[in-house]
Amino acid sequence: MLPVVNESEGTSIPPSSTWSYVERTIGEVMTRFDVHEIRTPILEPTELIARGVGELTDLVSKEMFAFERGKTRYVLRPEVTAPVMRAYLQHHLDQSGGVQRLFYIGPCFRAERPQMGRYRQFHQFGVEYIGTPEPVADAETIILMMAVYEAFGITETVLRLNTLGDQDSRPRYREALQAYLRPLRDRLTETSKQRLETNPLRILDTKVDAERRLLDEAPRLIDFVSDESREHYREVQRLLTNTGVGFIEDPLLVRGLDYYTRTAFELESPALGAQSALAGGGRYDLLAREIGSKTAVPAVGFAAGVERLLVAMEDASDAPVPASSPPDVFIVAKGPEAVRYAFELAQRLRKSGASVAYDMLGRSMKSQMREANRHGVPIAIILGKDEIENQVASVKTMSTSEQTRVDLGKIDQFIVDRL
Ligand code: AMP
Repeated sequence: MLPVVNESEGTSIPPSSTWSYVERTIGEVMTRFDVHEIRTPILEPTELIARGVGELTDLVSKEMFAFERGKTRYVLRPEVTAPVMRAYLQHHLDQSGGVQRLFYIGPCFRAERPQMGRYRQFHQFGVEYIGTPEPVADAETIILMMAVYEAFGITETVLRLNTLGDQDSRPRYREALQAYLRPLRDRLTETSKQRLETNPLRILDTKVDAERRLLDEAPRLIDFVSDESREHYREVQRLLTNTGVGFIEDPLLVRGLDYYTRTAFELESPALGAQSALAGGGRYDLLAREIGSKTAVPAVGFAAGVERLLVAMEDASDAPVPASSPPDVFIVAKGPEAVRYAFELAQRLRKSGASVAYDMLGRSMKSQMREANRHGVPIAIILGKDEIENQVASVKTMSTSEQTRVDLGKIDQFIVDRL
């Protein structure tokens, strides 16, 4: 039989306390921006993701964990923007008025070849501002994204910005790009050859140097966008510049998905190596229609990888992760009666709101004290045979080593008063 646990497969995954710290800190930044959490299911209908993300994308055609139950096809969600928009439409969140400012954090799944910074199960957090076409929303999601990284001391980042124009300009650009690239077809990679007919904008995303050089002379999207889209783009830039957010204009930056319009952005960290993208996002005014809404719903947002944030955090030296807090009390107990008493005392104190730890191995008092020290607990209650006989406990304040003898009848109150 194959072993279920492969002990040689250890990786340097940060402890859960670091994950909770990251989740908590992200939540705090969101609160400052008055952005509220939304939780959507891990399982979604395949149809939603296929339509919401785009049938022709690698994500949908190659990377989904999909299965069938009865007549329904499901996927483990590979991203959360389409699910959030589904929830918005299905639960009529628009009727609560104004712009919905939502964030999520949770697992996503993509059947990719795992490598450093790229996993089959990973975690994304992200923000969606739904219901506004205004440039302030684009600029603010970018500023919020940067604020999250700043909260972890990650400031060595590069923000790249572009506009994808609108529904009218994109088909014209697409044709111009195809017309430019078709005569060069033989010099393209196999992937790009396929994309040339299906999704030519994705070719702009190429990491192959020779292809990048071919693109130097390619028509630029910015020359095709309408005056309105161009002004929208300029306004986003002005808002960012006036708030001191630096960016690089990158005319080759595209989002792989068809529903993106206007603003597109990506945040990179040199600390990440090959998988340098911390987060990416943009405006997606066409998504709601794509998944069945009768009216267009303008929206903008970003998605970011938690694992990559953790790597960047490690690299940013001034981002200490606070240690998880120790229990309030450690009960040191030796001998069957003392252990039994400690057990009951622990449950009583916990009901009163204290966090309590004690030894479960019957170890010596000395090693129990050592453990209390290691935990960094402020108070130790010491219960030995003598204490039980005399119905008293020694209560030690660890910072001063001062010990007080307390009657067992009064110990609960004594501890509660010191919490
Ligand atoms: P995307 O939804 O592809 O725009 O991805 C948004 C962010 O999620 C990326 O910038 C990465 O930080 C992260 N990400 C995407 N795919 C993976 C993966 N397979 N493993 C780890 N992080 C990922």
